[in-house]
Amino acid sequence: MNKSIHIIGSGLAGLSCAINLSKKHGRNVILYEASSLYGGRCRSYKEKNFNCILDNGNHLIIKAYKNTFNYLKKIKSQKELIANNETFYPFVDIKNSEFWSVKPYSYIFPWWIFFGSCRPTNISLLDFIKSLKIFFAKKNQSVSSLLKKNSEIYKKFWKPFTIAVLNTHPDEASAKLLSKVIIKTLFFSNNPLKPFVVKKSLKDSLINPAIKKITKSGGNIKNNFRLKKIIFNKNLAQKLVFNKKKIEIKENEIIVLAVTPNIASKIIPNLKTPKKTNCILNLHFKLDKEYKEIKFPQNSFFVGVIGGVVDWIFRKKNILSITISAANYLDNLDNEKISDMVWEDIKKVFKINNLKKPKYKIIKEKMATFVQSPKEIYRKPKMQTKYKNIFLAGDWVDTGLPATIEGAITSGNNVANYINKF
Ligand SMILES: Cc1cc2nc3c(=O)[nH]c(=O)nc-3n(C[C@H](O)[C@H](O)[C@H](O)COP(=O)(O)OP(=O)(O)OC[C@H]3O[C@@H](n4cnc5c(N)ncnc54)[C@H](O)[C@@H]3O)c2cc1C
Repeated sequence: MNKSIHIIGSGLAGLSCAINLSKKHGRNVILYEASSLYGGRCRSYKEKNFNCILDNGNHLIIKAYKNTFNYLKKIKSQKELIANNETFYPFVDIKNSEFWSVKPYSYIFPWWIFFGSCRPTNISLLDFIKSLKIFFAKKNQSVSSLLKKNSEIYKKFWKPFTIAVLNTHPDEASAKLLSKVIIKTLFFSNNPLKPFVVKKSLKDSLINPAIKKITKSGGNIKNNFRLKKIIFNKNLAQKLVFNKKKIEIKENEIIVLAVTPNIASKIIPNLKTPKKTNCILNLHFKLDKEYKEIKFPQNSFFVGVIGGVVDWIFRKKNILSITISAANYLDNLDNEKISDMVWEDIKKVFKINNLKKPKYKIIKEKMATFVQSPKEIYRKPKMQTKYKNIFLAGDWVDTGLPATIEGAITSGNNVANYINKF
């Protein structure tokens, strides 16, 4: 009889776990998803008002995401990402009307910091050297506690970098985690910070090809299947109780809980998980045509913004897509007010004072990631649980990585590799 592996959650962690499970011993992979859409926090949907497919948020992938690129290879989707020809991050400071590009070229060593043309304007090599104290951060220190908040390097580099990587304001973000990410990414490979985005949609690049691969390999995927609880017998899970049916867990069968941390902690008694979450707000403007006034620096597909409410602007044909990370501070504002503030920033970035605010759609992902503060990161659980037949996967499980696409995919891989050993 087939021994089933029940994976709960079709986010990147659940999908990467399913893809990496070997078909040893007649294993049967079943993936259950609560929603009607696959992909979790990395999903696309049909927006009726725009008559097109929108992503829940702009997802930046960097070349250092080793396991993500392996995942893309496995699902034959490597060609579904796009990048600028060169590695650069263009920025606009709308308060001071300044423009610059950070060119984080790196080969074994981040040599870009030695060249003025690769650094933000008015930032010296000495400024970077002074920031090295971040590598000696203690467990409980935040990023901003180690840097001068009124310094140019903080405003132009450390603040946007921390928020982009950890979706957490430097006042709260763990300096130790940030320094680990830098060490992992900056020193050991070729151009690790080269940015990529999906060509068409998250669904087309990261999700549907994975679903296809899983079903082609004999896996079974069920949507609208919400796990409500697990019935335990001593240190084993005995029954999965879904909204639609109950499933008996037989001997040697395994459950992979690849859900969000708030759900996992409800399902597994006394499970310690990160609790505090941060919002990422995405605002899509639909332009009625492609305006030639809206020019991105060096024809880049994105630009970073400083001095306003907007963090990043992405260009997708006639859609301008805006990302605001660590956006809990906007919680109490209504969408009309937020869209006005964002449009004011856009007008300053592209100097388009006469253009009226176009049709917009706001997507607030209130639990985009957990807050990656010293306190919360030490609440990340290991993948093994006190129940022998339950494993955890997700960007909130301890992999040493931050809560990102790479963190989620690595976590799914880790569980699959562990199960494959038996
Ligand atoms: C707007 C936004 C922008 C982002 N930008 C970036 C970026 O630029 N770069 C980057 O690397 N990362 C980014 N991230 C983070 C990245 O999307 C996540 O780290 C990753 O998608 C998490 O995947 P996961 O599988 O761990 O969790 P999830 O995607 O949350 O998957 C969990 C799944 O479990 C399902 N589920 C929950 N409860 C149940 C239940 N009871 N029964 C069955 N199923 C259930 C959910 O519906 C979901 O599909 C962004 C996230 C957001 C929200």
